[in-house]
Amino acid sequence: MAGVETFAAWLRDYAGVIKENAAYLTELDSAIGDADHGSNMDRGMQAVVELLDAGQFETPGELLKKAGMTLVSKVGGASGPLYGTFLLRFGTALSGEVTPASVGEALHAGVGGILARGKAEVGDKTMYDAWAPALAAYDAAVAGGGDLASALKAAADAAAQGRDSTTPLVARKGRASYLGERSAGHQDPGATSSTLLLESAARTLT
Ligand code: ADP
Ligand code: MG
Ligand code: MG
Repeated sequence: MAGVETFAAWLRDYAGVIKENAAYLTELDSAIGDADHGSNMDRGMQAVVELLDAGQFETPGELLKKAGMTLVSKVGGASGPLYGTFLLRFGTALSGEVTPASVGEALHAGVGGILARGKAEVGDKTMYDAWAPALAAYDAAVAGGGDLASALKAAADAAAQGRDSTTPLVARKGRASYLGERSAGHQDPGATSSTLLLESAARTLT
């Protein structure tokens, strides 16, 4: 059953993926933002790796909460508080055994944190456009008797579709909204990094 090492492996995997994709994420953000999403996420996830290297954690929840606090404190801009609150609430909700159902509750709690902070709705061209279909797909997979790996894979696939759906949208939240109609025709950076987080989870949390 997934324990501290499994969740540490998830965050380490994601830190590597972010490093590989930092230039790409920044390029996406240069079209509709301020060209820092890749460097923001890379700085934050490198600080999380340092936390993992230094720390001893009793439970996955403790590890995830500390990682969330690290992102909130190390990353300026919208994405630090949004991802930080996601991990904080995910970690707080994840007490007891790690099961498809308990991870589902933690995902819902984490995304609830993104909504509490950002007040986004589906169609606003934000990371929530990846998370909303991902949660629905995860729930459907678990309801159909799927195990953790298959539910996370379903969530990651749905997130990728949600990410792609952001391209034609006009942004209504965040920095991209300052561009109005000119934000259309570009993929949202945060929806892209959120899809990477779920793809990483599907690879590592099994
Ligand atoms: P900043 O815009 O402050 O430079 P980043 O570039 O790191 O921060 O992150 C931008 C991403 O944050 C966007 O692509 C979008 O997905 C996400 N985002 C911005 N505002 C919100 C919001 N209110 N709710 C959800 N996500 C948001
Ligand atoms: Mg930015
Ligand atoms: Mg910025």
